[in-house]
Amino acid sequence: MAALKVLVGVKRVIDFAVKVRVAPGGAAVQSQGVKHAKPFCEIALEEAVRLRERGAAASVLAVSVGTAACQETLRAALALGADRAVLVQLREGEGPPGPREVAAALGAVVAKEKPQLVILGKQAIDDDCNQTGQILAAMLDWPQATFASHVELEPGSVRVQREVDGGLETLRLRLPALVTADLRLNEPRYATLPNIMKAKKKPLEVVEWAGLGLAPPLPRLRVLGLEEPPARGGGERVDDVTTLVDKLRQCGRI
Ligand code: AMP
Repeated sequence: MAALKVLVGVKRVIDFAVKVRVAPGGAAVQSQGVKHAKPFCEIALEEAVRLRERGAAASVLAVSVGTAACQETLRAALALGADRAVLVQLREGEGPPGPREVAAALGAVVAKEKPQLVILGKQAIDDDCNQTGQILAAMLDWPQATFASHVELEPGSVRVQREVDGGLETLRLRLPALVTADLRLNEPRYATLPNIMKAKKKPLEVVEWAGLGLAPPLPRLRVLGLEEPPARGGGERVDDVTTLVDKLRQCGRI
């Protein structure tokens, strides 16, 4: 059990509190110079780090699939306790990869690194595609437990509690296995300054997409354009309910 390696997928996602702006060109959102966050990936990472701290796992590998900017995301993961990081790097203009492409890239890293447990977030908070874990488990032909609220490693297996409608379900999966993290699994720690400094020296390997022997990432859908919603007009104060009803009638709202 002590030699068990855990792989965690971390995705670079714009923080939910950032006001989303359309980038020049209109085919993407502005991602430069804005705060990034990844709540469910951080929960997945925290669980892996806790398993290692409890002695149930030996090492934690953080993996990101994306552009060179994901190095920052991986450094943050190293500061939160991952031992090593791998970036599957897309070239400028390649992607963005869909969940199938990301799962294929994560699967290639799994084949190389041979972790016994993969933990992903149950969802990212960008496009809410929420399928990467399920697709990866299917590709690997591994047992999966999604939306985990408790994870316990046992010899040769992992016991997972999941929140389901109306109660809790407990599953035991034979290793190797894949788990996706729900909100109540744990509360992620903050990175301390010494750990941020230490993270700069931890190994971060960059592999090219093509270097994994994968076909070029050809997403099945392409974003043709993005538009910001029209600016909202100012509000108006009225003196009484009768005037309010009149106004609403005039503008066709009732
Ligand atoms: P999604 O399926 O995009 O909602 O993401 C669910 C989870 O899959 C995330 O919380 C990550 O753990 C993992 N994941 C998705 N995309 C990536 C990516 N580009 N790189 C690494 N992990 C990812």
